[in-house]
Formats: sequence, C-alpha cells, structure tokens
Amino acid sequence: MIMWPDRKRFAVTLSFDLDAETAWDTSSLDGRRLTLLSMGAYCRRVGVPRILELLARHAIRAQFYIPARVAEMDPNVVRGIADAGHGIGCHGYFHERTDEQTPAQNRQILEDSKRLLERTIGREVSHYRAPTWEITPDVVEALVDLGFKSDSSLMGDDRPYLVGGEPGQLLELPVSWVLDDWEQFAYSAEPAMGGVIETPDKVFELWRAEVDGMRAYGGHFMLTMHPQLIGRPSRMLMLERLIEYIKGFDDAWWCTPEDVHGQWRSGALDLPLYPY
Ligand SMILES: [Zn+2]
Repeated sequence: MIMWPDRKRFAVTLSFDLDAETAWDTSSLDGRRLTLLSMGAYCRRVGVPRILELLARHAIRAQFYIPARVAEMDPNVVRGIADAGHGIGCHGYFHERTDEQTPAQNRQILEDSKRLLERTIGREVSHYRAPTWEITPDVVEALVDLGFKSDSSLMGDDRPYLVGGEPGQLLELPVSWVLDDWEQFAYSAEPAMGGVIETPDKVFELWRAEVDGMRAYGGHFMLTMHPQLIGRPSRMLMLERLIEYIKGFDDAWWCTPEDVHGQWRSGALDLPLYPY
C-alpha cells in the first residue's frame, strides 16, 4: 500500500474537464447547431460558477483540465478558476483525439495549448489529461520533453504510477470509467451519445462504494466530472453529499496533481514504474 502523506489511508482528487463546446462534434462548431452548442455553453455559464461556489464552501482545491480553445472563447472563466486557487491542466486544443493526429501535430498542440493557457492565467501549466483519455506513446514522450509534471489519462492501476523509461518518466494519475460522470449523465441524440440518464442517487451509490474501496485498498479516488453535466442542480446536491461523505473520514488526503507530484519529487511516495 502507498503511504500517503500524514499517514492518510487514501487520496481524493476532484477533477473537472472544462470541455464546454469542444465536447461536441467539431463540425457543429460552425455555429449553426445552437442547441448542441448551448449544452457546452452551460458548462461555462452555469456549471463552473456553481462548482467554484461549492468548492469554496468546502475549502477544497480541485483540478480543471481545459482545452485551449475554451480559454480563447472565455478567458475570464479560466482566470476565475485559477484565481480561486485550483489547478489548471492542458486538455488538447479543440479536444482532438491524440490517436488521430501525427506525432508532430500532437507536439504542436501540446506546445500551443500550454502557451495559450499560461498566457491566460499568468502562471505555469504543467499537468495534462488527454481528450477522451486517448493518449499515445508519442504524447507521453512529448510531455516528458516539454517538462510536464503529470498525465491523467491511463487506467493501469488505481494508485499513481510512473510511465515511460529513459530519458524521463512521467507521473500518471489514473482514471477509470466508473469514476466519470460522462457515462452516467451524458446524453445527445445526434451525435448519438449515452443511453440512459442515471439518477443522482444511483451515481452517489456507485461513487460512495468506490470511496469505500479506495479507502480499504489505499488507492487514489480520482473523480472526473464535466461541468455541463455535474453542474445541473440535482447533481450538484449529490456531489455535495459525496463530499460530506468523504469528509466524514479523517484519513482522506485531499490533493491536486501538483500535490501528488510534490510528494513524489520529495521522495515521500514510492510509486510503481510501468512502460505505459
Ligand atoms: Zn474532455
């Protein structure tokens, strides 16, 4: 079992993917499909303010992964998140899949999106999550090359681990489909996405059981949410119930990717190394 800081039993990270309009088919971004695009706009206009208010009330620092295009469209929402003290990470430019790009394109997207986010918030951006969690070996190499501190796209463990080999290794903060609100709440007729919209009570039970499991096995409860989904009123109430449930334990280490990286660099975390 990993020894978490302060003798905590398990780690907890709340992460939000600020895909907004880029979550949807980019061909819809010519502006004609207003209804589809408005689902993405809800992320920026409604979801994010509600989430920031909830996090502030519970004094929790979270992680937001943001496609660079969203920072171009709405720099103020991105600055508001950074000013509230939350972590910011890269998440593609137009939320493009890395396996559909050449290595040269992937590297260019990484460089451009990092630069644009850094210019928007005025501080370094060095954490990454691949759009749709599709990451390729060339992206892992480019992340190491460009000095990124972590990725959060792979599913090879439920504790942080290291990927790659020489010349460098990358800290991986693994995700899981079971800890993603997209599978529970996303729905669109065209493009066809999702089937059944689940109730908040069902999702609370699913995630509460994961909290118990991670606590028993000393894992990292890395929850991935999308403000356009979790930001709806009934789901915000459910998320607050979950936060209160976790806060009922005094042995949870609430952390951001930057916190995990800091602990690892200081030698306090002994992490497994895998090729990928
Ligand atoms: Zn995304």
